[in-house]
This record gives sequence, C-alpha cells and structure tokens, in this order.
Amino acid sequence: VTVSDLVDQSLSRINDIENKVKAFITVDEENVRSQAKKLDEQLGTDASQHPLFGIPSGIKDNIVTQNLLTTCASKMLENFDPIYNATVMEKLNAQGALTVGKTNMDEFAMGSTTETSYFHPTYNPWNTNYVPGGSSGGSAAAVAAGEVMFSLGTDTGGSIRQPAAFCGVVGMKPTYGRVSRWGVVAFASSFDQVGPITRTVEDNAAVLEAISGHDHRDSTSIHREVPNYVKSLTGDIRGMKIAVPKEYIGEGVSEESKEAVLSSLKVLEKLGATWEEVSLPHSEFGLGSYYIVTSSEASSNLARFDGVRYGYRTEDPKNLLELYKKTRSEGFGDEVKRRIMLGTFALSAGYYDAYYKKAQQARALIKKDFDEILSKYDVIIGPTTPTPAYRIGEVVDDILTMYANDLLTIPVNLAGLPAISVPCGFTNGLPLGLQMIGNYFDEETIYRVAHAFE
Ligand code: GLN
Repeated sequence: VTVSDLVDQSLSRINDIENKVKAFITVDEENVRSQAKKLDEQLGTDASQHPLFGIPSGIKDNIVTQNLLTTCASKMLENFDPIYNATVMEKLNAQGALTVGKTNMDEFAMGSTTETSYFHPTYNPWNTNYVPGGSSGGSAAAVAAGEVMFSLGTDTGGSIRQPAAFCGVVGMKPTYGRVSRWGVVAFASSFDQVGPITRTVEDNAAVLEAISGHDHRDSTSIHREVPNYVKSLTGDIRGMKIAVPKEYIGEGVSEESKEAVLSSLKVLEKLGATWEEVSLPHSEFGLGSYYIVTSSEASSNLARFDGVRYGYRTEDPKNLLELYKKTRSEGFGDEVKRRIMLGTFALSAGYYDAYYKKAQQARALIKKDFDEILSKYDVIIGPTTPTPAYRIGEVVDDILTMYANDLLTIPVNLAGLPAISVPCGFTNGLPLGLQMIGNYFDEETIYRVAHAFE
C-alpha cells in the first residue's frame, strides 16, 4: 500500500460515516492528500521506517497546528489559524504521521460529553443516541469509528481516559512532564497532558514514544530518556502485584462497572498477577479539590482571550473595558464562564486560604495516598468511569452529575501520575473501560499489563 491509499481509505470512511458521528471540526482533505503524495516519494527510504510513517491521525482541536484552524471548539477561536506547530505536532510530522483533521471537544476542554462544543456535539459510534464522553470525545469517536488510525487528546481530569472508555478504545494519560505542553492551549497548566487514543495498546505505545521527551520550551517537561514502550509489551505479567482501591468499587460506582473490574481481575490472575484490596482514604476530596484548583488555573490562563491579541473581538466597543467585557461574554460558552467565575472567586483575596489553599492541601494528601500504595504495588486498577456513556442531553444541564463522572480519573491528575483506559466489556451495547494507574514515569509497566490483558 502507498500512503495515498491509506489516506484515501481514511477519507472515504469519513465521507461515509462523519454525518452520523461528527467527530471532526475541520477536515483538511486537500492538504492531507498533497502531503501523502510527498510521503509516497519517500517510500523505501529510511524515513519510511518510522512506525507512524504515513499513518492518518486526528488531532484534538486545542493542539496548535500550523495553517490548520485550531478552535478549542470555541467561538473565541473560531478563526484562529496558527502560524506554528505544537511540539507534539513537530514530533509527529518528523515521523511522517499525517493529520487528516482536527477533532471535536468540549469548549476549551471543559466538560465530559463533547456537548459544550460551540460547533456541534459528537455522537458515540456504538450508539449515536449516546455521548462519546469528553472532553476529547471527537478524538475517541474518530478512532472508534475507524476514521483515523490514532488520535491525540488532552487529559486534565480524565479527558483522554473517559472518552476512550465510552468509545471502547485505548487512551493513555502520561505522567505529568512526560510530553511537552508547548503549543497546547492551556486549561489547567499543572494538570494538562497530551496523550494517544488508539485501537490497540501496541499502537498506543508507539504513538506515546513518538510524542514524549524533554522540550526546552516547556519548563515542566522532564529531562529523562524516552523508553522503548513497544519493547515493554512482553505479555509476561507473572508475579505482578495489583492494588484495587475499595473507594473505586464503592459508593457512586455502578454494578456493571464493578462487575467488569472483578471479571477483568480474574483474567489478570490467570496471567499470573495477584491482587489485593487497598484504600486511598483521601479520594473523597478529589472532586472538590480538582474543581477549585483547575478553575483557578483556568481563570488565569483564559485571561489572555481579551479581544486584543487574537481570536474573537466584539464589534464597535465604546471603550477598552467594554471591549474586554463584550468580547468575553460573547466569545465564551456557559461552561467556560462558570469555571472562570469559580476560579476568580477561589483566588480572590479573603477566600484564597479557605478554598485554593485548602484544595492544594487536599491535593497533597491524595498524592501521598498514591505514593504509599505504589511503593508496594506495580499498578492500581479500577473502573475508568462509574457508569457507561450517557444519553445525548442527559447531563449537559445537570452539572453536578457531569462533574461526578470524573470521580475515578481526577485523582490521577491531581497526583500527576500516568494511567490508561482499556476496553473491558460491554453493558447494553455500550463499552466499559478498565483503568490502570502506574508509578511516575513508569508507563512501561502500565503498557505491559494492559497489553497482556487486552
Ligand atoms: N471533565 C473534566 C472537566 O470538565 C475533565 C476535563 C479534561 O480532562 N480536560 O474538567
């Protein structure tokens, strides 16, 4: 096959199914075809030996792509046509991977259903009456529907793992600092990480290997060699010790999710691993701590959208203050405004100690819980989400239910740990995900267990 064949296949699948799934905001057909032609000239050379050479992908629309609109699914950035590439894009391009288009998401990555997109919702390919999850819902749906071979998402509180679970695909949120955030539109900078969504664990390992590594333009990216993740997929997990937090199979978690985890543990036992129930006693503070700290960071990060530098600008403002006010009231959607207001409040003088500082203290306790367990066990396992996917429209106005869906993914981001979601069964035709959490910079162990399991 040629690269052009692969691209043809991807585009024809998009042509067939995209009106039902709506995974993309932008598809750049002309550009991807001409890139494919160029790559075809390199077939047979060393360049074509890269594992991602010529592979069509979808990129979440908060990752900056040169000459390809990057909207964050917001009216604020509807016409933002970047003049540079994010580091992860430079890395993918260097391997010869192809970007077919930009995938739909919740506005500025705030949400769990991809329904807060300014443009349109995305539909779950398994059943289009259901959401694909979010915020990287377009990225997960595009892979699940066979429109692209892999995609990139971002995960601040679950936005790679949760849609991967809802769409029956594999999603990895790497250790904080593993992948450069340069050129990724910031939501909550001390949480955000880019990661791959794929059909198999092996594909996932190959993509993470390609996008990882230190970047001098992101001071939080780490100086540390990138392991050969694909090589760690030995299939051998004999003697591995698994911890199962009782809080992850307790209150608020559906029977189906619990059962799927228990039967997955049986599979892992057969493969030679052992498991024990443990406790992460501060888990209950996860949701509260997360929404205070991420909203605080978001309120500061989103201050740059002021109608002056780039993006949407209101028409005919009377003065500077009105320019700011009207631009922001017209440009941002409700969920984004809610977070900005919450964050501004939590950071304001007089409330800082009561909210922001408390939330950071809870965050430290949650991290300590994990450190203790991960000093004794190889991986922590539980459901990715408390329930399978919601119906379209079911939770979009029921904010607290939507927030509670992040119960099991959020603690991982508070601690900065790596975690994967792999498919582990179905209930009523909808996929369920199994979450595996590993130690800092030990994506290899997670991949090994996930690969043996799948
Ligand atoms: N659903 C979570 C939120 O709305 C997670 C979002 C994310 O990881 N980007 O904040």
